[in-house]
Amino acid sequence: MALVTTRAIVLKSIRWGEADRILTFFSLRLGKVRGIARGARRMKSRFGGMLEPFSSVNLTLFEKRRDGLASVSHADILEPFFAVRECLDRISAASRMVALVEGVTADRDPGPPIFHVLLDGLRSLVRTDDPGLLTLIFQMRVLGQSGFRPQLDHCVTCERDVGRTCMFSPAAGGLLCAACDRRCRDDGVPMSPGSVAFLRRARRMPFAVSMRLKAAGRVRHELEEMIDTYARTVVGKRLPERNLLAVEP
Ligand SMILES: [Zn+2]
Repeated sequence: MALVTTRAIVLKSIRWGEADRILTFFSLRLGKVRGIARGARRMKSRFGGMLEPFSSVNLTLFEKRRDGLASVSHADILEPFFAVRECLDRISAASRMVALVEGVTADRDPGPPIFHVLLDGLRSLVRTDDPGLLTLIFQMRVLGQSGFRPQLDHCVTCERDVGRTCMFSPAAGGLLCAACDRRCRDDGVPMSPGSVAFLRRARRMPFAVSMRLKAAGRVRHELEEMIDTYARTVVGKRLPERNLLAVEP
């Protein structure tokens, strides 16, 4: 039995029983971890509004067994990210961010770089005027930090330069030259030289600097398609929609 205190971001919060919540956090010390907050839905709960999705908190967890559900014994809010929850475009972007982190990380496997990218991503989301592009850059960065770093330097199959006509193969996890693409008949995403250049440039930059990049028109469309398809392949399910208003009722 142990008490653990760590910084954490709320990825998901579901109602449980009469008054409790089961929460999924991405924490600095423990990585992805689930905990139950007893009485969190009561009017006078000691957790107040601290355990809303996207909140950054200082968390104390009580663990009976290392592999079981922890109990949330205390939480102090560090950054509530209210502004993220006030706008549908930002809610949609933040939902995609946390869904990707939840999907590409394993339980109890700490990943401080991913934690800091998530925190920087949410902070930038409050300021950006293009949540969609910020999410794209965030997703590329998280995939690059996870075990699913896409191969963008050369053809993932023959290792030759991909030339001007290439595809991104979600199944192979990287770029395919035209010859290899013809052979593998994968459902690849066509990539123009501009999109490949964008990905390579963004990857070399510190995350905070890469978020100032701009992408429009064909490049933007290709990147959205590529990241969506790849994230869906590695996570095994669709991420929340880019535009929540466009979701069919
Ligand atoms: Zn090839």
